[in-house]
Amino acid sequence: MFWQKEIETASRSEIEKFQLQMLNDTISRAKKSKFYSKQLENVNIVKNIEQLRELPFTTKEDLRNGFPYGFLTVDLSEVVRLHSSSGTTGNPTVVYHTAQDLQNWANISARCMYTAGARKNDVFQNTMGYGLFTGGLGFHYGAEKLGMMTIPIGPGNSKKQFWFMKNFGTTVVHILPSYALRLYHSMKEDGVDPKKDLKLKIFFIGAEPHTEELRREIQNLYGLKAFNSYGLSEISGPGMAFECPVQDGMHIWEDFVIPEIIDPDTLEVLPDGQEGEFVLTSINRQAMPVIRYRTRDLTRIIPELCPCGRTHRKIARIKGRTDDMMIVNGVNIFPVQIEKTIMNIPQAGKNYIIEIMKKDYMDKLSVKIEINENTFDGTLEDLECLKRKIEAELKAETGVSPTVTFVDQGTLPVTEGKAKRVYDLRQVKDKR
Ligand code: AMP
Ligand code: ZN
Repeated sequence: MFWQKEIETASRSEIEKFQLQMLNDTISRAKKSKFYSKQLENVNIVKNIEQLRELPFTTKEDLRNGFPYGFLTVDLSEVVRLHSSSGTTGNPTVVYHTAQDLQNWANISARCMYTAGARKNDVFQNTMGYGLFTGGLGFHYGAEKLGMMTIPIGPGNSKKQFWFMKNFGTTVVHILPSYALRLYHSMKEDGVDPKKDLKLKIFFIGAEPHTEELRREIQNLYGLKAFNSYGLSEISGPGMAFECPVQDGMHIWEDFVIPEIIDPDTLEVLPDGQEGEFVLTSINRQAMPVIRYRTRDLTRIIPELCPCGRTHRKIARIKGRTDDMMIVNGVNIFPVQIEKTIMNIPQAGKNYIIEIMKKDYMDKLSVKIEINENTFDGTLEDLECLKRKIEAELKAETGVSPTVTFVDQGTLPVTEGKAKRVYDLRQVKDKR
């Protein structure tokens, strides 16, 4: 059931055949929503997969403008779950699921896990956040579907994590790559050697960009295989693309989504092999399908067939994003969220920079703000108070805990033209 040979190894023409059917079903379903009833007004039936490229794109902005129900295709009584994407300003992006959607998502997640080698007798520890973030619940149900004993431990508390791993013989773990490093060092501090003392076999790592070097480091430290896992809330969540044992690119499940790569400037569809923006059409979502959704993730489709025998195409590791979204320990944050908070505080100046670093193997966000000498003339204690106030407001806005430092007015760099606000200092350290 989890290895669906006929689907996963179908020929290109067979894949296109079922995709066409699913795409047309999706178009007619999508037209029941307010947004697509207008957007697809003149579209009735698509005769071949190539015609998909004649349909208009859907953007994150469209999803936000459609808040709250503009994309819903079913009666609210059919909806059984809501998820909301992190890191949005203004209206969040809300995603709805019917019971069938959740079933399909669990099936595709179970397929991912099975592909990586997880089996019914494995013990699965899910260290991803449970809640609106899809990492926790998404793979939780997939793991249960596969039949693994599932430990819904959630993130953080490293000591508790390895206590569970040791006592319950955890073999499979879903984890942020940044947290995997931190957890290892925490184990080391407590004299735990994962290679000797634990039974770990497989990590699923994803939700944030990471390098091949980092993956190798995780594999070496723990003595296991770490598989890259890609997904986004708008198309359910984790499980949309996943590495097979070949560990060279992630298979996009083409019975779930139709992938395209476009040039983000000209919006032209690019041939397989060329790098550009990843665009996805969900073809088996009920409550809220999206058509030609611009993910803003940069990657390429790998043209060669995979030696594992699966014919669903693969994408290369995500290289970055076309927008300025930052991913901090798996949480999506836009610089404007930080700016908005700072601008509401009169004592803070208008010039600021954001730095993201690695500290103790985790991402740390730090915000340097020029003090506004015209509106602030307090003592050092007042300054400390102001710092804590801004930190608390930034935490409420972004969901992570940034550190604030004040600098004198006029000391931060001023660039000509577009201001450079974000300094991402993580990549350099990853390759250490
Ligand atoms: P969210 O909808 O909050 O789950 O965020 C989805 C975004 O996280 C994607 O659009 C990517 O930018 C990022 N992401 C998810 N998985 C990966 C991965 N394996 N590698 C790199 N980035 C990822
Ligand atoms: Zn493969």
